[in-house]
Amino acid sequence: MELPRIRPLDEAVVNRIAAGEIVLAPSSALKEMLENSIDAGASSIDVACKDGGLKLLQITDNGSGIAKEDLAIVCERFTTSKLRKFEDLQHISTYGFRGEALASISHIAHLSVITKTADDSCAWKCLYKAGKVDPPLSQPQAVAGKDGTTITVEDLFFNFPSRLNSLRSPSEEYAKILDVVSRYAVHTTGVGFTCKKYGTTANDITIRANVTQKERIRAIYGSSVASDLLEFSVEPEPSFGLSKCSGYVTNVNFDNKKSIAPIFFINGRLVTCDPLRRALQQTYNSYLPKGHKPFVYLSLELDSTNVDVNVHPTKREVRFLFEDEIVDHISAKLAEVLSNVDVSRTFLTQQ
Ligand code: ADP
Ligand code: MG
Repeated sequence: MELPRIRPLDEAVVNRIAAGEIVLAPSSALKEMLENSIDAGASSIDVACKDGGLKLLQITDNGSGIAKEDLAIVCERFTTSKLRKFEDLQHISTYGFRGEALASISHIAHLSVITKTADDSCAWKCLYKAGKVDPPLSQPQAVAGKDGTTITVEDLFFNFPSRLNSLRSPSEEYAKILDVVSRYAVHTTGVGFTCKKYGTTANDITIRANVTQKERIRAIYGSSVASDLLEFSVEPEPSFGLSKCSGYVTNVNFDNKKSIAPIFFINGRLVTCDPLRRALQQTYNSYLPKGHKPFVYLSLELDSTNVDVNVHPTKREVRFLFEDEIVDHISAKLAEVLSNVDVSRTFLTQQ
């Protein structure tokens, strides 16, 4: 048998594969774009989608906008306004830093940007294909528009049939989109959010910029969650690098059997943290009737030198030092809070 020779892959193939690792589904593209809008200082973010975001995913913000001169390279891989040197990773305060999101999306979808900075007298529009403006070397077109940025992603995965086939129905993809918007809307006070199906007038999510976190939870997760909600906070523990842990959790009276995935933000990033999720569920199990499920939203601030946000391109998974200690510390506090509420309830009913 003739030995197959080793050859470099085509650049286009490499880029498409890499893009597929970052953009797993419409909701992951949306997550990146929401973070870009928040990084750009937006106080209003509107999302519209067609076919669960597969046909069209559009996000409009009122943030800083992108300078016209940067439009030529904004979709190239590893172009960013946020990170300059490797050391900056230690104390990065923006969501983005790799400059990969827009590039990735442009390799697996048709992408267009309309943007206007406060200094521009009109908005500028560019189309992109595989990281570059399309047609090649074309200039931004002057269009009408407000300050801020609209990014439109059409036909996601049009050149990635295996991914397209592996995705579930548009309605499930839309549910994932609503879930991502909901989580950011709960966490990001000062920013208003809407989300709807393109072409309809009724929003599925509407949060005004100035509403409190509790009102955000009520508007999104319903008044049954909100009426059994406790403000929750844990004492800082500098020896574990935990400088803040606060949020909202439901009390033992919350009568709910549907699983609601916990919302965790660590240093401002939406993450999953299985050890913490399991520990909190276990704590709840001792206080809730069998089969009942809590609602949990926690925002943790950890010493940034203890946190590695760069584990995975999606930045969804975060590793940190003293994980066991921190998880125990939070669960112990939760047990204390839940048992107090339990006692006061028994006490009240005995009166
Ligand atoms: P990153 O966020 O890692 O820098 P992205 O590919 O997500 O990389 O974005 C590239 C750059 O495009 C950003 O650094 C930012 O300067 C600009 N940008 C993207 N989206 C927006 C937006 N909604 N408003 C303003 N600037 C944006
Ligand atoms: Mg980004």
